[in-house]
Amino acid sequence: MSPRKLAGGALVIGLTGGIASGKSTVGDQFIALGVPLLDGDHVAREVVAPPSPALAAIAAHFGAEYLQPDGALDRRRLRERVFSDPASRRELEAITHPLIRRRILEWRDAQRAPYCILSVAILVESGMHQLVDRILAVDVPQATQLERLVLRDGIAEPLAQQMIAAQASRSERLARADDVVDNTYPPQSLAPQVKRLHRLYLEIAGTSP
Ligand code: ADP
Repeated sequence: MSPRKLAGGALVIGLTGGIASGKSTVGDQFIALGVPLLDGDHVAREVVAPPSPALAAIAAHFGAEYLQPDGALDRRRLRERVFSDPASRRELEAITHPLIRRRILEWRDAQRAPYCILSVAILVESGMHQLVDRILAVDVPQATQLERLVLRDGIAEPLAQQMIAAQASRSERLARADDVVDNTYPPQSLAPQVKRLHRLYLEIAGTSP
């Protein structure tokens, strides 16, 4: 058992999965069961909200053309740049990741539920898996992931393919997972899987369901 857990902190489950694999869809089901969940995407947006030091650093490093007229980050434009240029992606991450990590740690250490969930697409790639006790991966075949990404974000298939390629592969992610949710099938197939995992996590956390 982790020292944090022994001190009364929550067991931390890292929910991961490629972009559009279904992390939010699965996460919502845990939230409906009363489980506290922090979405890493929301934290990533918060740290660059104007006015913020990270936003200023991005404008200084990449150019003011990555800001919208209202001063907010032009996320689509920056996304297109960093997904076609790995060096830029690393530079952007060097600005944002330390701030994201700090906010996640603050949130994690404040949780007092039996367990909580941290949802991060690039959990392992970013090294943030070190902040969690156990990894839950949402798994889908890559063709399904691509189809759902194009549909959800209304983007062209080549960009969607680049976004998928910039993350860990399906097999790399599965190799690191302690638990897996299969999201290949219609959403109704998720509830029994989520219920089973909820019971498992309460048991590991030392609380009966
Ligand atoms: P993530 O949070 O991993 O990026 P989402 O939960 O947003 O992924 O899911 C991506 C898209 O696929 C969303 O539009 C969602 O509504 C849809 N989706 C998720 N699960 C399923 C499913 N089992 N069947 C069909 N569509 C799904």
